[in-house]
Amino acid sequence: MSRIVYVNGAYLPEEEAKVSVFDRGFLFADGVYEVTSVLNGKLVDFDGHAKRLERSLTELEMPSPVTMDELLQIHRDLIDRNGLVEGGVYLQITRGAAPRDFAYPADPKPTLVLFTLEINISGSPKAETGLKVVSIPDERWGRRDIKTVQLLYPSMGKMAAKAQGADDAWMVEDGAVTEGTSNNAYIVTKDGKIVTRQLSHAILHGITRAAVLRMAEEAQMIVEERPFTIEEAQNAAEAFITSATTFVTPVVEIDGVTLGDGKPGRIAKRLREIYMDEARAKAV
Ligand code: PMP
Repeated sequence: MSRIVYVNGAYLPEEEAKVSVFDRGFLFADGVYEVTSVLNGKLVDFDGHAKRLERSLTELEMPSPVTMDELLQIHRDLIDRNGLVEGGVYLQITRGAAPRDFAYPADPKPTLVLFTLEINISGSPKAETGLKVVSIPDERWGRRDIKTVQLLYPSMGKMAAKAQGADDAWMVEDGAVTEGTSNNAYIVTKDGKIVTRQLSHAILHGITRAAVLRMAEEAQMIVEERPFTIEEAQNAAEAFITSATTFVTPVVEIDGVTLGDGKPGRIAKRLREIYMDEARAKAV
């Protein structure tokens, strides 16, 4: 069945949804995006995603074609028009079509595209079995805190992981893990502390990360925001990732080394449950 896609004010069957070949998103990856998850037809942490979007736009001096209230309405219309129950809404804003020039156009006409994604988030099989990850060098640009559509290196990382029979890659810079190709990375030490890299330009400031760390602290768990190495991760009690479309998903193997008994860890499972309950309760 054809989806209904939003493009610059119009709701169109996906086959008819088009943008210009001169769009700077296409020519320069001059665009930003967000993916907001949907549970029971409702948006999880829309405010967090809207705020990060505004920040990404500001960092790139890119105007938004709509207000954040209008954006919420478009998200809801798309969910309704597509009958989406569980999955996500993908949103992209680019600086729009302009004569090809490295300098930004003086009077940009941004492109706004949204479409729905059907994903089985709540019953994902990987939540039960856990993920296998491999490490790769982090060769992305230096402003990973801006959520741009420059996703070629993470794509290459995912392919490298699959070629080795793993599910995903964790990226390493100056000896420490930055994050996963499309998620934030965590370990749980043998004495029960949750460790994840601190916020900086080196990683994306995950919306799920912010929520999960807050919930962990509310549940009296100890959180340490600092870098960790692959070796420390291989010796940890457990590991996991977070993102809007995976929530909390356990990691059970790193570069061929099995963590603990090779089963999803207790803390990762607990955090997934807490996150899921709150996401369902607070979704809009
Ligand atoms: N890091 C990277 C590199 C990502 O691409 C993503 C998801 N897009 C995340 C972290 C997780 O962010 P969020 O929880 O906001 O989905």
